Amino acid sequence: MEREVMEYDVVIVGGGPSGLSAAIKLAQLSKENNKPLEICLLEKGSEIGAHILSGNVFQPTALNELIPDWREKLSVKCTRKKR
Ligand SMILES: Cc1cc2nc3c(=O)[nH]c(=O)nc-3n(C[C@H](O)[C@H](O)[C@H](O)COP(=O)(O)OP(=O)(O)OC[C@H]3O[C@@H](n4cnc5c(N)ncnc54)[C@H](O)[C@@H]3O)c2cc1C
Repeated sequence: MEREVMEYDVVIVGGGPSGLSAAIKLAQLSKENNKPLEICLLEKGSEIGAHILSGNVFQPTALNELIPDWREKLSVKCTRKKR
């Protein structure tokens, strides 16, 4: 039996916040250093993020570090909790 083979430099299992941020960081480093990387992100759900359960409350510290201009890139608006 002949099986299809696809080669990658990195395979990340799980498209939750951890796997997705690992893939984004690697892609950023690959671009910054001009070293192309084939990255594969495997998710068993129907789509990336399909198993994120809530998202009602969100601490953005890590996302701010990973994608500083994420707020501008969003098509929906976020509101900050007033203290
Ligand atoms: C009820 C509930 C409510 C929550 N509410 C919030 C909230 O409001 N705000 C907040 O910030 N956090 C919330 N959390 C926490 C948040 O969901 C987790 O901290 C976060 O999802 C962890 O991310 P992760 O990438 O480590 O894991 P996960 O999000 O669990 O991602 C792992 C991914 O790997 C996939 N996977 C597993 N095995 C395989 C496999 N063999 N092959 C392919 N894919 C696989 C899964 O489908 C999943 O998508 C909540 C958690 C729960 C349980």
